[in-house]
Amino acid sequence: MPPSDDGGVDLKIMVARIPEEGSLLEGDEPSSILELDGDRFVKVVGDVQYALYVQHVSGELVASGTLSIDLELMCTRCSEFFSTTVVDSDFLRAYPASEDTDSVDITGDVREDLLLHVPVFPVCKEGCKGLCAQCGADLNKGPCACKKGDRPISWSALDNLDL
Ligand SMILES: [Zn+2]
Ligand SMILES: [Zn+2]
Repeated sequence: MPPSDDGGVDLKIMVARIPEEGSLLEGDEPSSILELDGDRFVKVVGDVQYALYVQHVSGELVASGTLSIDLELMCTRCSEFFSTTVVDSDFLRAYPASEDTDSVDITGDVREDLLLHVPVFPVCKEGCKGLCAQCGADLNKGPCACKKGDRPISWSALDNLDL
C-alpha cells in the first residue's frame, strides 16, 4: 500500500473536524482501496462512493451510512461481464477516539463491507441460460447445434464398449 499523505488512497476521518452534533461526510475515493486489481471476475468501473454520518458518541467516533461502487462482474452462468452497482446501505462502525486521536482510518472497514456485498455467484440477468454444457455456446444468443437429450461424447463412447 503506497503512502497516502495526499489523501489519495486512505479513507480517513479527521477527528477534530467532526463537530459535537455530528457531520455528514460525502465523496468518493479511488477504487484502489478495494485492492481488486488482478481479480479475474471483477472489473472496477467507478470510484467508491460514500455518504457517512459521523458523530461522537461517548468517547467513540461512530460512522454510519451508505457505500457504493460500480463494478462489472463475470456472470457465473454465461461468463459474460455485466454492469452492476454494489451498494452497502448499512455500514456501521465505531472507533475509539480520545482527545488526542488525530484521525481514524476507515479504509479497511469500507473495503471489507463493500466486498462482502459483492455477490458470490453473480448472474447477469434472471433467467440467464448460461453456456451449453456440451459445446460451450452462449445459449442467450440462441440455441446451439447440440440436440436436446444428446449425451456428451465420452458417454456415447462408453455405450459402444463391448463389455
Ligand atoms: Zn449470464
Ligand atoms: Zn451445444
